[in-house]
This record gives sequence, C-alpha cells and structure tokens, in this order.
Amino acid sequence: MTEYKPDFAAAFRCLASACPDSCCRQGWQIVIDPEHAAQYAALSGELGSRVRAAMTQTDGEATFAMDGGVCRLLDASGLCPIVSAMGEEGLCHICHTHPRFLEEYGATREIHFSLSCPEAARLALDRTNPIRFVRVQTDEPLDHPNSIDPAQYFALLAVRRLAVRLMQDRTLPISDRFVLLLRLAEQVQRRFDRKDYSACRRLVRRWYGYDYRMRQFAKTLRGRLRRAPYAEDLALLCAMEHLTPEMTELLPRLAETAEGASAFDAAFSLQAEHLAVLWLWHYLPKAVNDNDAAGKMKLAVFGWRFVRRACLCMKKTTLSDVQHYAGLFAKEVEHSEENLNLFYRASKRI
Ligand code: SF4
Repeated sequence: MTEYKPDFAAAFRCLASACPDSCCRQGWQIVIDPEHAAQYAALSGELGSRVRAAMTQTDGEATFAMDGGVCRLLDASGLCPIVSAMGEEGLCHICHTHPRFLEEYGATREIHFSLSCPEAARLALDRTNPIRFVRVQTDEPLDHPNSIDPAQYFALLAVRRLAVRLMQDRTLPISDRFVLLLRLAEQVQRRFDRKDYSACRRLVRRWYGYDYRMRQFAKTLRGRLRRAPYAEDLALLCAMEHLTPEMTELLPRLAETAEGASAFDAAFSLQAEHLAVLWLWHYLPKAVNDNDAAGKMKLAVFGWRFVRRACLCMKKTTLSDVQHYAGLFAKEVEHSEENLNLFYRASKRI
C-alpha cells in the first residue's frame, strides 16, 4: 500500500496531561472497537476494573463514559491509565489514531491531522516553509477492493496538485491566490458535471501556463467572485448544528462589523496558505463520492474566512489565535458529516 502523510507527521507527539485543549475533555463519543472491547473485558487486576468501570454501552456499542465531558478514565493528573500501563498500543482504535484521520482510495492511504488538536495545529501552522506530503511504501496488503472510478480519481489528484501549487505561489498575495482557486473550482466543476475527466486534465495543463492563469485572474476580478459573501457564510454557520459552547457564544459576535481583513491576510498569509493546502489535500479526493470537486475547493475559502472573521471579531490576532480558530473550525465543521454536507449543498450558490 502507498501511504501519504504531511511532512510534520513524524514530529507529532501527543501532549497528554500538558495538553491545553485535550481531546479527552471534549465530550466526544469514543466508540471502542470490538477487538479492544474484548481485550478490556478480559484485563485483570486494578487496571481491568478501572477500565471496565469507565466503559458503557451507547446505541449497542461499547464506549467510554464521560463525566461532564471528560473521559471517566483520566486520572487526577490528566493521564490515561491505559497509556501509563500498556503504552499507546493498548489504546482502542479511535484513541490510538486521533488526531489522525485515515482515508483510503484503492491502494492508497492518506493520513490527515485534525487541527482540533493543539499540537497538530502548532506543527501545521507555526512554520514558514511550504507543507509537503511524504510518500511511503508499506508492505501492508490491500484489504478493500478498489471501487473508485480511476478517470475521476486521477483527475481529482491532478486538480489537487495544481490547487496546492496555486496556494503555495508566494509571488501573489494570498487573497489573489484564493480568487484563482475559486475560478479554477468553477472551471473544474463544469467538466466534472459532464463527467469529462479528460477535459479536466487538459484544463489543468493549461492552468500551469502563467499567461493563462493571469487571464483567468483578470476575468474573475471583473466577475461575481469579487463581491464579499460574508453574510452568506454567516447564515450557513447559523444553520449548522453547533457542537461546542464556544461556537454558540461566538456566532452573534461574527455578525459584528470587522475591519482589517486585508491587513490580517497580509499578517497571516503563511497560515492561510497552510490551512488551504491541508484542507484541499484532505477534501478534494473525497469528490470521488459525490463528484462535487468545487465544493471541496470552496471549503478552503470558507474555512479561511471563518478563521479570519473569528479572530477579527474577537480582537484576537496572534498566531495562537489563528491556531485556536482553525481548531474550532475542525470541531464544528470538519468533524460533522452533517455540517460538511450542508456546506457542500450551499456552496453551489456561493
Ligand atoms: S488534543 Fe492532541 S495533544 Fe491534546 S491530548 Fe489529544 S491527541 Fe494529545
């Protein structure tokens, strides 16, 4: 199997009890896979009794119970006794992989990091060099048959390479890069709607030409993408299910006037670039499921507008604020299939 992961993956270490916003304190439902549920049921001694006392059943599945949103297993110093006694290998599948998300496309596995994890957000955003993705060949056999359409999938990979290149072109201001991304999204989707993936790959080749790109830019500035669509973003955020108390408190503030978007973009252009690249890398290939490539590209624009607006309205303008609101976007939008789908449906109008 071929595996792709971001270049900071190897540096990731869970902060455990030192984490300022631990995933064990979010009130998330942690479903224990059957293999580990059986292992925990057979654990002897004090650890076994403790683990079983923290387990419960939710909708017929074994889960860890939460007390006030905190995993019942955590000890007074915020450590997980399973890790203390057995190492990370003893963790159930969800706890072991978090904050990583694994996506499989045929014989390829992609590993993405959720920026809801403060350490992943720090590694991803507190850097100047462009994010690269590392390819590793593993000897793991392929266990799922490949059911994706190769023409569509390879067109998506070609679009993703180009989109990442556009977002990492530091000769242009970040706002211009987003304008180009939206233009590309529209053109790609027209070909995807016709299922003409060869035409899409020809389009991608044209976009590598500087003159062609600049013509697209000029046309876009004359067109509708120039207007500021923030009211639409806000209506959409209000219509979503809200998963954290912070979001409920933040939403009314987001409606307030927020000046300084251009200065903010200039100050945090590296973070805007890194976020867009991570979102494009994660979500674009998922268009194999719904053929909506444009929606996945617009998510990167929507995500950055959210982070910027939240920082400006809350008058929080440090790098750690950007990391925090990128994490909130992950918790509120990326972790919710329902919210993502609501965005994709609405994005056709944006
Ligand atoms: S959020 Fe990240 S760093 Fe914090 S406890 Fe969870 S995995 Fe570890």
